[in-house]
Amino acid sequence: MLRLRNTLSRTLEEFKPLDGNTVRMYACGPTVYDYGHIGNFRTFVSVDVLHRYLKYLGYQVRHIMNITDIEDKIIRGMLTERKSLEEFTGFYSQEFLKDCDALNIQRPEVMPYATKHLPQMIEIMRRLSDNGHTYQSDGSLYFSISSFPGYGKLSGLKLEGNLAGARVDVDEYEKADARDFVLWKAAKEEGEPRWPSPFGEGRPGWHLECSAMSMEYLGESFDIHCGGVDLVFPHHENEIAQSEGATGKPFVRFWVHTEFLLVEGQKMSKSKGNYYTVRQLIEQGHSPMAIRYLLLSVPYRTQLNFMLDGLGGAETALEGLRNIRRRVADFDGAVGSHPRVLEILTRAREGFEAGMNDDLNTSKALAALFEFRRDLNTAMDAGEFGADDRAGVLELLERIDSVLGVLGEEQELMLDPEIEAKIEERNSARRSRDFKLADQIRGELAERGIILEDTPQGTKWKRR
Ligand code: AMP
Ligand code: ZN
Repeated sequence: MLRLRNTLSRTLEEFKPLDGNTVRMYACGPTVYDYGHIGNFRTFVSVDVLHRYLKYLGYQVRHIMNITDIEDKIIRGMLTERKSLEEFTGFYSQEFLKDCDALNIQRPEVMPYATKHLPQMIEIMRRLSDNGHTYQSDGSLYFSISSFPGYGKLSGLKLEGNLAGARVDVDEYEKADARDFVLWKAAKEEGEPRWPSPFGEGRPGWHLECSAMSMEYLGESFDIHCGGVDLVFPHHENEIAQSEGATGKPFVRFWVHTEFLLVEGQKMSKSKGNYYTVRQLIEQGHSPMAIRYLLLSVPYRTQLNFMLDGLGGAETALEGLRNIRRRVADFDGAVGSHPRVLEILTRAREGFEAGMNDDLNTSKALAALFEFRRDLNTAMDAGEFGADDRAGVLELLERIDSVLGVLGEEQELMLDPEIEAKIEERNSARRSRDFKLADQIRGELAERGIILEDTPQGTKWKRR
């Protein structure tokens, strides 16, 4: 039985989908104005682990993750770089998907773009206006938070003392600045993207898109909504107000929020400049699987203090797990099976599931996996392992990895001439200024434990 901590009820609740065996979940996706940093990917990896664990439990999962391709920072970026909206956001969306692939994040069923859902947003605004939740000012349309009695229920915000009619039209603001928020912004700046609507020419505020896309693909009430904790207020609070204000129905049952990834006690963020992107870490020779492992090794509701050293530890942990998998796969001793192995298998599966069922406690689940490794090594050393035990162990490892996604396929050790051929291929790509291919080759090598160092005497390599 899976229990999840629900931000809305502030308690641990047993999870059951609304509709039979299908889980409908929505996660706020990236704002595509730059490369994502590993703080962002901590949230995306945790959502991926939830998605995968729901499948492990036998549910059908319908998972939607939007791409925010219109927003204040995007407009600033496209205007500065003198690019069209599609050109600017198209590039960063593709790069985002590449990072997701590197981190073995499974694709959600639908990844809708905000700018492709203007009619759905306009429909919500129309319903909100009919229900008396909006007003117009300076050509923009605002949501009046005092018209929605449930405002504040997710974030615990108290509205007393709030200035009636005070407004914000920026996409991000703090709790202390709780105000009526903008649904539709009148076009102001020259060159700013704009669309026609019954409320005048303009563009949607950030919050509206997630109400529109989640309800479009999942219905007016659905099971799970995820995102990082910084989205609780105002983004998710505003989504609830818009969705419930329009439909009169409860919007989401479980709100699941991932805690921050910190660097020296501070949130990793673009504006603080204290960030690493996935590609930077790969270029430094860290394997994407170690990055994923590190990101998921701390339970999602606990802050994770990121340190580069941690990646070395993650690499060693993964090595240990791959070694036991190899040792079992290569076992060529006597046929037969041992009751001890059966016990070990049961304990490992139960331990893993107990950890995951406890609000996705990945550190407990990983502890069960390391105990599994230790017990298997002990049994094998003691000769209490037979060739018929192999299949069960490999199957359980594969099943556990269908959730964690960190072990990958068994890879052959790369031989020196193969490595040197790859380096030559990379050099030739660099000579013809195809840096994308060159980086890709470096990434492939890093993934297989080969680290490159470019020196004035040429490229040197070593095994990790
Ligand atoms: P953005 O692209 O800024 O909209 O953010 C994408 C996702 O990353 C959102 O769910 C954010 O809540 C999340 N996020 C941003 N910074 C961090 C961080 N330092 N740690 C964990 N999640 C984060
Ligand atoms: Zn959202």
